[in-house]
Amino acid sequence: MFRPLSLLIINISKHNVASQIKYSTAILPRLSSEKYNIKRKSFGTINESDINHFRSILSENRVITDESDVLPYNIDWIKNCRGQSKVVLKPKTTDEVSEVLSYCNSKKLAVCPQGGNTGLVGGSVPVFDEIVLNFSLMNKVISLDDISGALVCEAGCVLENLDNYVRQHNLIMPLDLGAKGSCHIGGNVSTNAGGLRLLRYGNLHGSILGLEAVKADGTVIDCLRTLKKDNTGYHLKHLFIGSEGTLGVVTKVAVHCPAVSKAVSLGYFGVNTFEDVLQLYRNAKISLGEILSAFEMADNRAICSTVKNLKLTNPLEDYPFYVLIETSGCDEEHDSEKLNRFLSKEMESGHIIDGTVTSEPAKMRVMATFT
Ligand SMILES: Cc1cc2nc3c(=O)[nH]c(=O)nc-3n(C[C@H](O)[C@H](O)[C@H](O)COP(=O)(O)OP(=O)(O)OC[C@H]3O[C@@H](n4cnc5c(N)ncnc54)[C@H](O)[C@@H]3O)c2cc1C
Repeated sequence: MFRPLSLLIINISKHNVASQIKYSTAILPRLSSEKYNIKRKSFGTINESDINHFRSILSENRVITDESDVLPYNIDWIKNCRGQSKVVLKPKTTDEVSEVLSYCNSKKLAVCPQGGNTGLVGGSVPVFDEIVLNFSLMNKVISLDDISGALVCEAGCVLENLDNYVRQHNLIMPLDLGAKGSCHIGGNVSTNAGGLRLLRYGNLHGSILGLEAVKADGTVIDCLRTLKKDNTGYHLKHLFIGSEGTLGVVTKVAVHCPAVSKAVSLGYFGVNTFEDVLQLYRNAKISLGEILSAFEMADNRAICSTVKNLKLTNPLEDYPFYVLIETSGCDEEHDSEKLNRFLSKEMESGHIIDGTVTSEPAKMRVMATFT
């Protein structure tokens, strides 16, 4: 039976994670260096004159050294890793990033670039005393061409803010993930983030039109092009997509934003076997065609753990597998007719046992937190 969903709306992370959390020593994660038995390499050690130099580049309040203020930047989102950085730097411009990196390079000081610190694999926090280079103040939109859909912005823009901004121009960001309220577009590019819209718009190698980056020695690389059909020469941008700061830091990004879909529906279904999940995916591609925009699967353990840890209520009973299907198109009547026909067929054939469908944005946000 399909029914409308009524659930508590949980907002996963609306604001910058690091600035919100206060830690008590009792709940501190173990130091990553001890946990993973890693030896520090022969990098320089930061001293007072380095701090003063950073203050001369960035000004006093953008060089954070107070231990309790630095702590949240040392701990990752799932509180699995903890670094021992003594300083967080918050540049506002590419020139400042370049000056900082060039200085660190000359002094052999290690640096850890950090976006919204929502990464789940520990890459966003230091292991030892690396300097945290945080991009949260590089958060300006530079331009938007609402005809081509080319958005140019700084690396520290929060994904959800960008999505809200481009929606005013009937566009959307080509990616969407549970961490959108905190993660940065620069972090998304650096991790080659996938997310809910990947099925429709592909990965970031297709959506990123260009970028600007700064190498470890301070050299600025300008590949900030905005032309979608650009087939000239080599495309250096691809090396930076997914490189997690290993080749340099991303400071500006040009993204292709697709047009907003007028009719969006989201369904969440209980499924008995993995074979049924595969069959459902195959049938969804055939029957829903161009309106299928997301298909995600989670097993019972994953959903139970999400429900428990995020204190949610599962709208469905216990099933071995759960599937989330999103459709988006431009004709509500046509799209819902197509979706209903598909769902009736799949329930009849037993690929779907139970489910719930909604077109209300607030309810869709809740459903999306499950997968
Ligand atoms: C609830 C939740 C849901 C998520 N869902 C998804 C998902 O669906 N798909 C997915 O792929 N990921 C997902 N993630 C993981 C994470 O959100 C993404 O990897 C995101 O892209 C990280 O962005 P960030 O700004 O938080 O980067 P951070 O976590 O700060 O950093 C991630 C890595 O990128 C590097 N980095 C950050 N900024 C820069 C920069 N400007 N230049 C160079 N290197 C930089 C860091 O050094 C680090 O190695 C999810 C995380 C959470 C908490």
